[in-house]
Amino acid sequence: MRRKLVAGNWKMHGNHRANAELLAGIIGVRPFGCDVAVCVPYPYLSETAVALAGSDLRWGAQDCSAHEPGAYTGEVSAAMLAEFGCRYVIVGHSERRQYHAETDQLVADKAKAALACGITPIVCVGETLAQREAGQTEAVVKRQLSAVIHALGHCAGEMVVAYEPVWAIGTGKTATPEDASDIHGVLRRALAERIGEKAAAGVPILYGGSVNRGNASTLLSSPDVDGLLVGGASLDPDGWSCIVRSSATSTE
Ligand code: PEP
Repeated sequence: MRRKLVAGNWKMHGNHRANAELLAGIIGVRPFGCDVAVCVPYPYLSETAVALAGSDLRWGAQDCSAHEPGAYTGEVSAAMLAEFGCRYVIVGHSERRQYHAETDQLVADKAKAALACGITPIVCVGETLAQREAGQTEAVVKRQLSAVIHALGHCAGEMVVAYEPVWAIGTGKTATPEDASDIHGVLRRALAERIGEKAAAGVPILYGGSVNRGNASTLLSSPDVDGLLVGGASLDPDGWSCIVRSSATSTE
């Protein structure tokens, strides 16, 4: 059975004082039966690792380079992230695809670089509002996923997938549980066709997009929703703790 995973994406937020308060506020919540992680900005990995060491909480980054260490100014390699104890790295977040022109191939290469260093990539896929309105949702998410499956080959079963409709990110709009479940089913079948039913069944598929303490349990109770990727609400210790508790409860 797949364990639920709740991952927080702090995006480009934080400072030493706020981080210390946030980490102190979330460390006490025991995530019975589910995995919990926070993906923090690079400069804060060190303090996050120190604060969360010995707890059940995991940490990760929000991006990594597709390259091996070398002359790539400004880039951060997966090997460096591994040195900070990162368990996860988000790749292909829509904000990276949109503002940094990341292609499906680049995202796939990043996922491959992460896995090669023992870090689980959380691969984001999702359609824009225009694509949704044009009836292209399935085609878009399948295309995005396909590039990653192709790059990872027999290791594709080791990734985490996050379905994040772009129109739902940071907007207060969420996919209905039925819509999320439908697209998660599409993704699971696409995985099964390429890597076989058994490997596909082991891949957690998270939902992300304006998740908050009010909608987390409903989303989590939908078939094929194996966890949540949470942006804004992961910055509020109380809201985050409620979301983690919802996830633990939905696992019982
Ligand atoms: C995200 O950044 O991955 C995200 C889902 O953001 P939010 O929860 O704020 O919509």
